[in-house]
Amino acid sequence: MNGVPRLTRGDILRWLKENDRVRLAQLWEWADAVRHEFVGDEVHLRGLIEFSNYCSRQCAYCGLNARNADVARYRMSADEILACAHQAVGFGYGTVVLQSGEDYGITREWLGDVVRRIKAETPLAVTLSVGERTEGDLAYWKDCGADRYLLRFETSNRALYDRIHPPRAGIYSDRPALLRYLRSIGYEIGSGVMIGIPGQTYEDLADDIELFRELDLDMIGVGPFLPHEKTPLGKEEEQLWAPLGEQVPNSELMTYKVVALTRLVCPYANIPSTTALATVNTKNGRELGLKRGANIVMPNVTPPQYREKYEIYPAKACIRETADMCHQCMKHRIQSIGRQIGKGRGDSPNRTIRRD
Ligand code: SAH
Repeated sequence: MNGVPRLTRGDILRWLKENDRVRLAQLWEWADAVRHEFVGDEVHLRGLIEFSNYCSRQCAYCGLNARNADVARYRMSADEILACAHQAVGFGYGTVVLQSGEDYGITREWLGDVVRRIKAETPLAVTLSVGERTEGDLAYWKDCGADRYLLRFETSNRALYDRIHPPRAGIYSDRPALLRYLRSIGYEIGSGVMIGIPGQTYEDLADDIELFRELDLDMIGVGPFLPHEKTPLGKEEEQLWAPLGEQVPNSELMTYKVVALTRLVCPYANIPSTTALATVNTKNGRELGLKRGANIVMPNVTPPQYREKYEIYPAKACIRETADMCHQCMKHRIQSIGRQIGKGRGDSPNRTIRRD
C-alpha cells in the first residue's frame, strides 16, 4: 500500500453509521494494515502517574470535578513521583505521563522541578496532562525538559463544549488554540475526544475526526463516555440527548470505529488503546483496540493507595492492581496478538518519519 486515500467528511460519516459486520471487518483490516505500514508492529508503553486528583474545574462528566465532595483528595510528593518514574524505567518504559486534575496547588515551579529531576535522573520522555494552564506555565515546563502535552478537546461542537465545561471566571477556554500554542513552542501534542457524550451527534464526531487531521496531532486518545453518578452528565434524567437517530452511542463498537477512522485520517499518529475502552470490555478491549488502529498502551504506575481515588469514571479498569501487575498484564496482552513491546522513547513518527 502506498499512502492512504483521503477520507472525505461524507466517508467518515458513512463509516460511523455503518453496522454491517462484513463491511466493518474490512474497516478493521484496513486500519490495521495502515497502522502496520506507518507506525509498525511495536506497541509503546507509557507509564501513567496520576499524581493529583485535586481539581478546580466543574467538567460535567468527570468524577474529579470540584463539586464532588465525596472524593478524598491527594497530591503525591515529588519523591513519590520520582519513585514511580524509576519504577517505569525498571519496567523498560520510555515515557512517563504525569496526569492530574486542573490543580492550581501545583505551581509552575514545583512541577518544573519534578520534570527537571525526572530528566536528570532518567532517560524518560516526559508527557504532561494537567489541563488548561497559562502559556507562561506551559513554556516554563518546556524549558524544564517536558517533551509532550496531552489535552483532549473533548468535542469540536462549541455549544456542547460550553455546556459540559463551565468556564473559569473571565477566562475563555479554547483547547485547540492551546494545542496550537503547545506545538509552536516545541511540544509533541496529543488530544482526543469522548465518544457518546449526551448531545453529541454523528456530524459532531465526523467534525472531531476532521479536527484531528487539521491540528496535525502527534497523539490521539479516544474512549467511550462513561457516566459517573456524582456528575451532572451521570444523571440520566437531566440529559439533553441529540435528536432521535443522531445521538452517538457510548459503545465499544463506536469506539473501535473512531479508533480505526482516526488511524486512516492520521496514519502517523500515536494512538493508545485506552483504559476507558478496557473498562467497557475488560476481557479483550485493549487487544481489539490494538488490532483496529492503535499502537500505544498506558500502563498505570500510580501507587495503589492513590489510584482508586483517581476516579474520573466508575469501575475504571486496573483500579486495584499494582504497577507490577499492570506491567505483566499489558506485556501478555501485547504478545498474545503477535506484537512487540516498543523500545526507546517512542517519539512521534509524525515528526520524525514524515516530512512531506
Ligand atoms: N485534568 C486533565 C486530565 C483529565 S482526565 C485535563 O483536563 O486534561 C483525562 C481524560 O479523561 C479527559 O480528557 C476525558 O476525556 C476523560 N474522562 C474524564 N471523565 C470521563 C468520563 N466520565 N468518561 C470517559 N472519559 C472521561
